[in-house]
Amino acid sequence: MHILQRAAPARLQLREMRRYPDVTHGPLRSRLPDRVQIVEVGPRDGLQAEERTLPTETKLALIERLLDAGHTVIEATSFVSPKAVPQLADAEEVVRRLPRRDGVRYPVLVPNERGLERALSAGASEVAVFASASESYSRKNLHRSRDEAIEGYRSVIRTAKDARLRVRGYLSMVIADPWDGPTPVATAVDAGRRLLEMGADELSLGDTIGVGTPAEVQRLVGAYRDAGVPADRIGVHFHDTYGQGLANVLAALELGVATVDASTGGIGGSPFAKQAAGNLATEDLVWLLDGFGIITGVDVRKLAAISSWMATELGHEMPGRAARALAGEASVRRGVAGGSPQ
Ligand code: MG
Repeated sequence: MHILQRAAPARLQLREMRRYPDVTHGPLRSRLPDRVQIVEVGPRDGLQAEERTLPTETKLALIERLLDAGHTVIEATSFVSPKAVPQLADAEEVVRRLPRRDGVRYPVLVPNERGLERALSAGASEVAVFASASESYSRKNLHRSRDEAIEGYRSVIRTAKDARLRVRGYLSMVIADPWDGPTPVATAVDAGRRLLEMGADELSLGDTIGVGTPAEVQRLVGAYRDAGVPADRIGVHFHDTYGQGLANVLAALELGVATVDASTGGIGGSPFAKQAAGNLATEDLVWLLDGFGIITGVDVRKLAAISSWMATELGHEMPGRAARALAGEASVRRGVAGGSPQ
């Protein structure tokens, strides 16, 4: 008898490893919010870092898929100079063709008045401005000092608010900067508060190089709280460079933050840490939050399917973990269903 035939085992039933146990209690769960608003940044923060420029149709198909997975806030594109970011040179067309749905927001990045004008004429209803908490990154990325860059947004934010747009402020390098070293907490708080005082509705704190740990995240978010900034005006934006992304999210959630940026597939590395992992992967985040019974409205299996579709469109494997694990789980299951002896 053939060895493989003889080895066929009693049929083991592979089960889904997921499980939603009763997790609404417990010492950690009780300190976390019941809902988290995910800001999906893949179509902007992710795609701008890719070598391959996707056709407009593919970007719109990505956004459709993200909507179908349950996303309600999707950062759609950027109005920075097309010379600086050619991957997003079709920003006007993307915004004009966005699928309009009730309860769905599409922030777009604007670097200055000119970018805001372009965004407004394309029909954007929410914009994001981006500053740095550190000096060197501001000079290298924005070509102005930190204070000049922040002050430069005063008129941008005012014009946007006059046009009844919602405004998100990004603050990069809140933990450390590759040239300046650790960012003093007081400096990071002061920079972010200025954007809020100028009228930004929400501040996204970015650990752009992903060096932060939960202790530093709690120190920073706690300092914002002590400075009178409510947690509901703060979002967090983590990179997974040192594998701290999810732990840092938990640290922020424990202090009342309930808005988290993430990128499906985990694309979007920092241009100054090329060896680094990219943004926190949305599907990894949703896997974590599902485990606590925290509502996001987003379907982790649909995200995993999007991630493998993106791998084909972008021509490389996605860095996120959960999508890979779910794809592996599915292929093992297919193998068993097909009667493979292994
Ligand atoms: Mg990012």
